[in-house]
Parts: sequence; structure tokens; C-alpha cells
Amino acid sequence: MSHTLKIETAKRIVVKIGSSLLVDMQSGKLREDWLNSLSADIADLKRGGADIAIVSSGAIALGRRVLGFKQTRMKLEESQAAAAVGQVALAHAWQKALASEQMIAAQVLLTLNDTEERRRYLNARSTIAALLARGAVPVINENDTVATSEIRYGDNDRLAARVASMISADCLVVLSDVDGLYTKSPEDSGAQHIGLVTEITSAITGMAGQSSTDVGTGGMETKVKAARIAMNAGAAMVIASGRVPNPIRQVIDGARCTWFQPGASPAAARKRWIAGTLDPLGRLKVDDGASKALSSGRSLLPAGVVSVEGRFAKGDAVAILNSANEEIARGLVAYDVEEASKIAGRKSAEIEDILGYRGRDELIHRDDLVLKGT
Ligand code: GLU
Repeated sequence: MSHTLKIETAKRIVVKIGSSLLVDMQSGKLREDWLNSLSADIADLKRGGADIAIVSSGAIALGRRVLGFKQTRMKLEESQAAAAVGQVALAHAWQKALASEQMIAAQVLLTLNDTEERRRYLNARSTIAALLARGAVPVINENDTVATSEIRYGDNDRLAARVASMISADCLVVLSDVDGLYTKSPEDSGAQHIGLVTEITSAITGMAGQSSTDVGTGGMETKVKAARIAMNAGAAMVIASGRVPNPIRQVIDGARCTWFQPGASPAAARKRWIAGTLDPLGRLKVDDGASKALSSGRSLLPAGVVSVEGRFAKGDAVAILNSANEEIARGLVAYDVEEASKIAGRKSAEIEDILGYRGRDELIHRDDLVLKGT
């Protein structure tokens, strides 16, 4: 295989933790020792140079008893109320655990639209990038209190995969109550563990359907769906047991788990998506200096743009033309057409004066740019 990733060589890792690992379901209490052992693993990965973001469930499980909900099946508004109470405790628990390893916790609550709608997607992506650049650890959950049924991720497996894709992570670690995918329910005799998946075939989805457990919202089916999202974004995903202390260390040391390995890297997958699947909604003509800068891998700054055409919003795909009107690149633009027209030809330092707010310095960031023929 051309591209096999391991946790220890990953550059940007999303770690997803289910409620039943973090919260003792009998008592409703936080499993603090386990959380501390996981934080030590995360600190190790960060010392090795990786960016880490956490997707943590547990808000509903932590808040339920505090509000006196005894039953596990609650009405939607009851679980939302439980989440409102539990999220405070959850964020605090992470802050404490990460601080004991000299890390900074940053709470990020997302709704489905933050990853599906392009403008909001770009905002969430930039905020998380800014946190990672400062060495903070984003602790992400669904904004359960405001997200209602039709606009929910529903399970954090999907949320974690969307986050991994959004921040171009190369690895998604899903800690679960099972150590991976089996050919049938792990309790059945003859069930075989699958160590490596390189393509989500119907045989794989079939196995996931049979081996689902009832614990948590997401069984194996939602995990395999998450793996498909991650792989399409060029990220590898691993399902491993979180039923042990130092669960990430254990995977690195060879504990049994299931790896889903994609064919391409996140950067390649993202660029393929920009180049291939989007219809440009506008055209930016650039001068020779900007053409040169782009071909050497730089971002497009407003200063190099000579004309702006089309009807595009922030986050849409646009084509970039050189002075001979040839398309030389495509990218996702950080301003809408009116704003882009106003700042075209001007220095980035003037953006705030022209638009009245401090936007991004780049009209198209190099991560959001694909040169023609690459
Ligand atoms: N967002 C929910 C919580 O924090 C969990 C959803 C899930 O476990 O998939 O309680």
C-alpha cells in the first residue's frame, strides 16, 4: 500500500471518546483515573509534535442524574437539558486533566451546519487551526442544547469524522468498548477480528451491521460510516479499546485494533475535492507577480488581483486566471464577490479600513488552492 499511517507518525490526530468510557454508567460519575491516563497519552503525542483535537461525548451522561432523570431513555428536550448541565462538568474535567499535563483545553461546540455549510465550515476550520497553532487542545462536542433532531449529527462518531475531515487530520482514533471490527458479533463463536480495512466494501458494512453493540449511541455501523468519511478525506481511522488505561499507548505498543487506511493523504484528498468536484462560481484575474507566487506554492493575496467577476459567497470555489486569461488555479475564496472587488489590488493591511472588519490576509489561502495540472 502506498500510504500506511501509524498513530506515532501522524501529524494531526482527532481522538474520539465515547460516554461509556468517560462516565461510569452505574454511578454517573466521571472515570477520573482513566481520563488522566488518556491525558498522559495525549501529552506524549503532543511532545512528539502532533496536533491533537478531542471529540468527547459524556455531556448527557454526566448531566442526567444531576437533573434527576433516572431513566436512560429521555425525551429529546430532556437529554438537551441534561447536556446543558453535563457539558459544564465535561469541559471542566477536560480542563483539569489536560492542565495536569501542562496542556490548554479549548471548548468547541458544533452543530451539523458548522461542517455542512461552507461559510460556517471555513470559520470553524480557521478557529480550530488558530487553537492548534497555539498548542491548545480543542475539546469538541455537539452543541446538544440547541441541535434538534433533524439538524443533529446524532452520534459523535460522525461528528469526529467530519471534524477530522474539516481540519485535514491524518488520523482519527476512535476509542470504543470493543477493540475493533469483527466478522460477526464478538460474542458469537467463530467471530473473527479484522485488523486492516483499505476499502469499505458491502462485506465490511455487512459485518458492522452484525457486530453492533447496544452501548452508546454509535455502534459499529456508525463507526464504519465514520471510517468512510475519514478515508474519503484522506485520514486513517483506528478503532481501539478504551476499556484499558493508557489506551493510545496500548495501540502504539501493539494492542489489537482495526485500522482503516485510505489511499491518499488529507492534503491530496482535499485538493482533489477542490479541483474536481466544484463548479467555479467566479473568476479572479491576477497579475504576473501573483501568477508566479501561486506557482511557487503561495497564497493568493488581494494585492495581486486585477479583476473580479461572478456571483460567489465566502467559501465558494473560484477560478484564477492569468493575464492571458488562462485558468491557472482553483480555490475556495475567503471573501464574497462584493468584498473581493473592494479589496482587489489593495494591500492586506488595508482590508480592515476598506471593509470595516479585520478579515483574513489571504483572498485564497494556499491550503484552499489547487494549481491546474497538479
Ligand atoms: N453529544 C452527546 C453527549 O455529549 C453524545 C453523543 C454520542 O455519544 O455519540 O452526551
